[in-house]
Amino acid sequence: MAKKKVLNNPWLIATGSAILGVIGIRILDMIIGTTIIHLIWLFIKNIFVTIGKFFIIKFEVTLWFFITMLIITVALIIFILWIVSFLKNKMNIFSDQQTPFLSYREEVFEGVLYRWDYIKDYSDKYYIINISHFCPKCKCSLVNDSCPICHGYYYDKIKTDYEIDALIRHKIETQFNIK
Ligand SMILES: [Zn+2]
Repeated sequence: MAKKKVLNNPWLIATGSAILGVIGIRILDMIIGTTIIHLIWLFIKNIFVTIGKFFIIKFEVTLWFFITMLIITVALIIFILWIVSFLKNKMNIFSDQQTPFLSYREEVFEGVLYRWDYIKDYSDKYYIINISHFCPKCKCSLVNDSCPICHGYYYDKIKTDYEIDALIRHKIETQFNIK
């Protein structure tokens, strides 16, 4: 009971805290203030001094060294550009070999000449677009299903775009062996 009373004494707590506080600060000051913080400060200062020195470094080069470096730099840039264009060409040739059907762009299906284009989407998949009809004899574009030159009429022969798409795809798959 007596021990608890002594510890609960407000005067003792205040005085004790003050004394401990002062001693604690002194100890911290001794350890950190004189050693760690000082070392950190020295380290930071050294970094700034080094950076500062780097920016005021002056070095002399001879003109021939400067010119040689300039030529080497330009040659290197040209060489890199050449390599890039070479690789690009290689890849284009490769993709042409992969897609020989791209030159297959017209065909006569049951008496009507059809022409079309290909379009490649972002995932490198090809689609058949712009299917158009032509007269198989004079290769003139059909107007209202008839040829304006030889007046041949093709109304009942013209297939739908879906049918032509299917026929083209079938031909590509069977003749070019591409799926
Ligand atoms: Zn015609």
